Amino acid sequence: ASGKVDVPFRGLYFNDSDVYKWLEAASWSLATDPDPGLERMVESAITEIADAQRPDGYLNTYFTFERAHERWTDFDLHEMYCAGHFIQAAVAHFRAAGTRRLLDVAVRFANHICDLFGPEEQGKQPAIDGHEEIEMALVELFRATGERRYLEQAEFFVDARGHGLLGEPYGRFDPSYSQDHKPFREQDEVVGHAVRALYLYSGAADLHAETGEPDLLEALERLWRNMTTKRMYVSGGLGSRHEGEAFGEDYELPSGRAYAETCAAIASVMWNWRMLMISGDARYADLMEHTLYNAVLPGVSLDGRHYFYQNPLADDGTHRRRSWFGCACCPPNVARLLASLPGYFYGVSDDTMWVHLYAEGSATGNLGDRAVRLAQHTDYPRDGNVEIEVEGGGDFGLMLRVPSWCERGYTVEVNGEAVDSPLSSGSYAEIRRTWRTGDTVRLKLPTPVRFVECHPYVAENTGRVALMRGPLLYCVEQTDQPGLDPRDLVVPVGPEPSVRFEPGLLGGVTALTVRAEVVTPQPAWENRLYRTANAHPDDRRAETVELKAVPYYAWANREPGAMWVWLQSR
Ligand SMILES: [Zn+2]
Repeated sequence: ASGKVDVPFRGLYFNDSDVYKWLEAASWSLATDPDPGLERMVESAITEIADAQRPDGYLNTYFTFERAHERWTDFDLHEMYCAGHFIQAAVAHFRAAGTRRLLDVAVRFANHICDLFGPEEQGKQPAIDGHEEIEMALVELFRATGERRYLEQAEFFVDARGHGLLGEPYGRFDPSYSQDHKPFREQDEVVGHAVRALYLYSGAADLHAETGEPDLLEALERLWRNMTTKRMYVSGGLGSRHEGEAFGEDYELPSGRAYAETCAAIASVMWNWRMLMISGDARYADLMEHTLYNAVLPGVSLDGRHYFYQNPLADDGTHRRRSWFGCACCPPNVARLLASLPGYFYGVSDDTMWVHLYAEGSATGNLGDRAVRLAQHTDYPRDGNVEIEVEGGGDFGLMLRVPSWCERGYTVEVNGEAVDSPLSSGSYAEIRRTWRTGDTVRLKLPTPVRFVECHPYVAENTGRVALMRGPLLYCVEQTDQPGLDPRDLVVPVGPEPSVRFEPGLLGGVTALTVRAEVVTPQPAWENRLYRTANAHPDDRRAETVELKAVPYYAWANREPGAMWVWLQSR
């Protein structure tokens, strides 16, 4: 696109965004794991990108040569979406590498967009992009540069939505596909293309974080409530429909036909993290953790080289991860999330350190003019014991999340003594004291296996249970139960499954052994699909077997076979 090689554009019109997502991932990765080879690749990518920028600041390789005259004529073609990913990559590179080399290119492009688009009364073109993304990018650019103009532009894009500027997306979808059915501040149901919706909510949350406007937060809370109580899979996966990669109606959550795009789960993590930063409310951290383990992680194979685009909760063994996709949004999105994951674990507010997520590691936070280091030692989520060592003394608060999955029996101790602050599941335990280096906090979170049931309006899940232990959702794979048809298995709620860590299984997982009954259909069902109810004595044969369940994130990593999350329980 810089004109150095004379070849026509190849690929999809939004493929630039994949390069930008890679660049963002590489930038975060270099911040924690220096690698001269990767650094050279990043530097040469930046050179090519800078050389491809047009003199007026415009940058999109699809519209550079043969389609230059079609720029900004069709807002379904992701120009601002690609711009958003570019700006996010530039901000990441600026923060990680500390140079403005890429940021300056992004600023020129952002200025080009700000000059062109806006309210008619300012002599600009009122327009929005069919695929949200630019909103959160512009707020980040405002944070990186201090230029208020980018914040105002983000606000324009959020509020211009819902006024019919897009018409019918791609000429065939309803405006709700791009969340253009009504003004954002009035929206109350999560609708349309799930990734677009969740990027919009993330952008609106960023906007609220900077402006404090209550209308925005009220809309975000309404949408979050609708999503989490009516339109979300037990995995945290989002988007029930293949048609339009979209959210469904309330309680429309088919397991086998679930779309649940990996990108939608990633976007949900981003949105929940922003809601957590705004509110300090543990329910957002709970969902962020749940989504990371059960909706993002299944998107990648255990060898890290194969990906799911869709994440069904039941399968016949034909859905397998692939090494790449023509529409390759998910793999580089996984990369940038995993590369930036350390940033999601801890938080700092005035005189308080927050621990949102649990894993072995450490973090240093600045409280005023002093640095406090927390070192976390744990096997989480294999068990729920977390030890945190404090380095750096003084008066400050420590907030530890007691996850909502842990319903009873949790304790917090400092140096072996129980903490007397009130504890409750699904909130942060606050420990405020005069700390001394070497103080040790022990959080104990019991991890019994839980049988989870679903709202009865999701008809497909009626009479079924899913298994969870700690933050992990479980599933049953055919390969662990040879000769059994999982459709015949009935798992009674009650008997505590046995729990065993198997180091050689699926990279090391805690497997569950569950007592189940094998209940096969009566012979009278042969050659029929329907019959009059009630007239038949229950002569089903039942034998008892042991059923093995493994974490859902690890499914489809062995020989192909059927998989179920929801198991019959009566
Ligand atoms: Zn994707």
